[in-house]
Order: sequence, then structure tokens, then C-alpha cells
Amino acid sequence: MLIAGLDAHICDYCVMQAQEIVNEEMNARKKGQFNEVELMKPAEIKAYLDQYVIGQEEAKKVLSVAVYNHYKRINKRKTTTHQGKEEVEIDKSNVVIVGETGTGKTLMARTIAKMLHVPFCIADATVLTEAGYVGEDVESILSRLLQAADYNVADAEKGIVFIDEIDKIARKSDNPSITRDVSGEGVQQALLKLLEGSTINVPPQGGRKHPEQKMIQIDTTNILFIAGGAFDGIDKKIANRMQTNLIGYGAKKERESIDQDNLLQYVAPQDLRSYGLIPEIVGRMPVVSYLNPLGEDILKRILTEPRNSLVKQFTALFELDNVKITFEESALDFIVEKSIEFKLGARGLRSIMEAIMTDAMFDIPSSNEVSELVVDWDYAEKKLSKTNLARLKVA
Ligand code: ADP
Repeated sequence: MLIAGLDAHICDYCVMQAQEIVNEEMNARKKGQFNEVELMKPAEIKAYLDQYVIGQEEAKKVLSVAVYNHYKRINKRKTTTHQGKEEVEIDKSNVVIVGETGTGKTLMARTIAKMLHVPFCIADATVLTEAGYVGEDVESILSRLLQAADYNVADAEKGIVFIDEIDKIARKSDNPSITRDVSGEGVQQALLKLLEGSTINVPPQGGRKHPEQKMIQIDTTNILFIAGGAFDGIDKKIANRMQTNLIGYGAKKERESIDQDNLLQYVAPQDLRSYGLIPEIVGRMPVVSYLNPLGEDILKRILTEPRNSLVKQFTALFELDNVKITFEESALDFIVEKSIEFKLGARGLRSIMEAIMTDAMFDIPSSNEVSELVVDWDYAEKKLSKTNLARLKVA
């Protein structure tokens, strides 16, 4: 293909080649730069989180402080290295959040990354295996971060990685198998390398490493790792530790003041150790916080309060068709009740809402008469009963 110019032509091949040269040049320039992450105060970070995450006050506070310290540390590093003063090395504050699935772990990490405009990726710890085994190498996490940063290494090096289901790579002490624990302790050892802050060879496209592949070096010193996990059964470890600590004079009184129903709030690094994370990993993730299970009232607030709440989203969606939609309190109660009944947590709110609204979303665009729709308990119940409830249960 020839593209005509004023007095010359250029072929498609040359255009593409030129584009590549431009890209490479731009990337090389970007790499030399360090853009400071715009730092917000912990209270500002929390206020931002408040707009999207309902409840979970303690975790939001802990996370805000950790993120603030992390980026303050990076910015300081870059600005003071020239002055020759003796520096205090501030350690990195990677975070572990313990909480049932669907309570907002990913949401929190994602919201923070969005706020700071830094690259963000989610890695699933369950697919990681030791190098050489079927599964993904630990380095693939960084490939993903690199992709999220549009292959700008400098940006990726100050990004945030959310490692989901970290509890699934816990060492299984009661594992009777004498074969290697390829998806447990071995992965933790490999992960440690990333957490510690070292230069890692990353295959740019992810997947398995192979000898002829071109690698990109990424320094993980300034990458913030936030790990999340449900840690099923950790409450027993917490209870055990607290029981043993509570022997002797005054113990009885203290024991009474422990909230037995929500032991998670007392979670401490040593509990993660007893759960099966190796001490080195626990040491590299010094900030530990917890999320509360979501009760009825919180679920209801999640429907309406976040900036992009489901009610707000559906209202906007119908507005585009010039239909005013109103959700009655009773409809919200119904959705919450079903979500709890199906044990879907906050994640179920959306599927139930979608199921209820499908008919309306199908019919209204082709009818000119409807300009208002009121959704109440009866409407919601009727619409939901038409859908396959069992399908929701397995989701
Ligand atoms: P997990 O803890 O399993 O990582 P997620 O963060 O993915 O859970 O939560 C799933 C969905 O549930 C989110 O996308 C969000 O819409 C909703 N959600 C969960 N917890 C909250 C919360 N505290 N406030 C607002 N929305 C929430």
C-alpha cells in the first residue's frame, strides 16, 4: 500500500517501521524519567476509599497509612540521594488483608491504584507453581504488571500488585505426601524474591520462561504488594494464641472482653505463620489487617452508597432511555435477603439485580409509552422467580 504525500509516497511497511522506531525512542525517554507519585495524606486516601468501600473502617485506615508510607518512602529516596546525607532506610510495608471472599479486598487494592494513577495488577496465587512445574512461574506476576504499565518499566516499578488467595499457598504441615509441595512452600520461596526487592528477569509476554527469550529486568524494591486471602479456619489459630496468652492473674477478666464472634479482628503476623506461611514471607508483609463479614445493613448500603453503586448505575442506564427508575426500600431489602440466602455476599448483589432488571432492560428500549418504573419487593420477587434461581446459587 502506498500513501501519497506532497511529492513522495511512503509504503505501509515503512510507516510501520517508523512507528516502531518512534515507540522505542519514546519508551527509552520515559524510562529515564521518574514521575513522583502524587502523595495524598492518609486521611485523604481514606476519604477517597470511603467513596467506594463501605464499612471496613479499620482496614481502610491501616491501608491508607501503609500506602502513604510506601509512596513517601519512594519519593524521599529519589529526592535525597544526591545530598550525601546519611539516610535512614525505611523498610517497605507490604500488606496482608485477611477476610472472607467478597468482602472488598480486591476492591480496596484496585481503588487505591486508581487513585494514585499507578499500574495495578491482580495475581492469583493458586495458579503459581515452582519453576519447572505445570502452572505459572512467579515472575509472570510482574509480566502482568508490565502489561498494565504499557511496558514502561519505570512506571511498573512503582506499581501495586494484588496477590489474591495467598492463603492457598500456605504450607500444608499435615500433608502426608512425601512428594514435593510444588504449589506451597516452593512458591512462597519464589515469591519471597519479589517481595524482598531485587532485580528480577521478567518474560515480557508472561507464561513460561525459555532460554532464548528476551527478558526485561524489573526492580521490585518500590512495588507495593498487597496480599489477600480468606484464611479459612485461622480463627482457631487466633483463639489458640489468645487462650495461651491468657493464663494467670487477671486472665479471666480479659477473656470476657474478647469478642468471640469476630476473632479475625485480633489477627496478628504470628497467626499467619501458624497457618502455614513461612516466617520470611510474614516478615516481608509486616502490615496485617482484616475485613469484617458483610452484614445485612452493610450490603444494603453497598447497593446505594458507593459512587458507582448498583442503584446509581441502573438509574443512569435507564435515564439514557429517558426512563425514571425508582428503587423502593423494600426492593433493596429483597435483594439483600436473597444475596444472603444464596450465600453470595456482595458479589451476588449484581447478579440478582441483573436478573430482576433483565425484563425491563429488554422491553423498555422498544416501547415509547413507559417513562417511569418503580421497583418494589413484589416486582423484584416476581422477576426473580422467573429466572433460574439455582443458577445463581452456584455462581
Ligand atoms: P474479595 O474480598 O473476594 O477480593 P472483592 O473486592 O472482589 O472481594 O468484592 C467483590 C465485589 O463486592 C466488589 O466488586 C464490590 O462491588 C462488592 N463489595 C465487596 N465489599 C464491598 C464493600 N465493603 N463496599 C462496597 N462494595 C463492596
